[in-house]
Amino acid sequence: MRLDITVGIPKESNPGETRVAATPDSVKRLVKGGFNIKIQEGAGRLAGFRDEDYDAVGAKIVSGSEVWVADLVAKVAAPTANEASTIQSGVMLVSLLEPYRNAELLERFAKGRVDALALEAIPRTSRAQSMDVLSSQAGIAGYRAVLEAAHHYGRFFPMMMTSAGSAKATKVTVLGAGVAGLQAIATARKLGATVEAYDVRPETREQIQSLGAKYIDIKLDESGVGQGGYAKELSEESKKKLQDALDERLSKSDIIITTANVPGRKAPILVSDAVVANMRCGSVIVDMATPSGGNCSLSVPDQVVDVGGVKIVGHTNYPAMMPTDASSFFARNLVSLLDLFVKEREPGAPTFFVNLEDDIIESSLLVHNGVLRVKRN
Ligand code: NAD
Repeated sequence: MRLDITVGIPKESNPGETRVAATPDSVKRLVKGGFNIKIQEGAGRLAGFRDEDYDAVGAKIVSGSEVWVADLVAKVAAPTANEASTIQSGVMLVSLLEPYRNAELLERFAKGRVDALALEAIPRTSRAQSMDVLSSQAGIAGYRAVLEAAHHYGRFFPMMMTSAGSAKATKVTVLGAGVAGLQAIATARKLGATVEAYDVRPETREQIQSLGAKYIDIKLDESGVGQGGYAKELSEESKKKLQDALDERLSKSDIIITTANVPGRKAPILVSDAVVANMRCGSVIVDMATPSGGNCSLSVPDQVVDVGGVKIVGHTNYPAMMPTDASSFFARNLVSLLDLFVKEREPGAPTFFVNLEDDIIESSLLVHNGVLRVKRN
């Protein structure tokens, strides 16, 4: 018996967004699990998937207006105001929703009785790992950020000895060793750079060292560990101490990759204007925190700026630069998430069930049955 649930997959409309929430592989899995899938014409094209590929695994290819007529709509980025107004009452929307910035949108969904599940609100627990879109996308972003740094840097990463002369290994400093930072460290090491890294959470020391990088040991008078394994915002005194300890090291780096982030807050400034002024001409800063204000005050969203010969890269959507793998990971996360809603009350008769006692659903389903369930500041 099939689930009586139709999932609509729209084509992403944000400028520069190349990802798609379902791939032929994920559609195959969802169809096998009993879901009916409708996908907007051309939705996977920029990620390298053709309509025929989706059709071959059982999806129905539909127009841009028809795709929103479904029981559940799954997409990558939060819907635009226009898209949000086309979602009908009773539908469940599953996407990244930027709940910290989109309070108004969530209220609108509550009024319109549209259920909304914010993928970024999925807890970072072991059980939720297979559904953790933030982690899967941040890993890709950390990898891509290093490639961007290499692209803008005029020298080799590894030490090179040739008959025409030798080159020293590039010195890369990574600030913030969460998912993106650890992947950036691993990638820079694989390219042959000398890497050092810092994070306010002391437990990252071993992870940094296990990747062959040096841990920058800075003792603060408070713990940087906040709730749910994330960092917390530091006091002004600790921020100053950290800045003083980092400045000289950063000035001597060839490449700085910053990923420091505290959920729901503006990103901490870690690379001061003075550091940028002291860096060698030709150095590169990749500021991955640009979407939340930047770890460097000079970064500009979606631009590469040159400040006295130092290039500062401020792209805000690295996963969209690797759309095939980013979509595949995203889509697999979504399959695992939707699986949480399927219950077999009787053998062979699956039903779609919103179990608010499940901690993953409880924390991520921000709007349910007209109620705004979680207040986000
Ligand atoms: P994360 O929360 O896993 O990691 C952030 C790390 O920063 C944590 O380990 C935290 O302890 C550390 N941190 C916080 N304050 C710090 C400080 N003052 N000094 C040093 N470290 C500090 O986040 P993530 O998923 O790895 O993402 C990292 C950043 O990259 C975020 O800002 C995220 O929004 C951004 N990101 C950007 C893109 C893009 O395309 N630009 C894509 C994915 C992620």
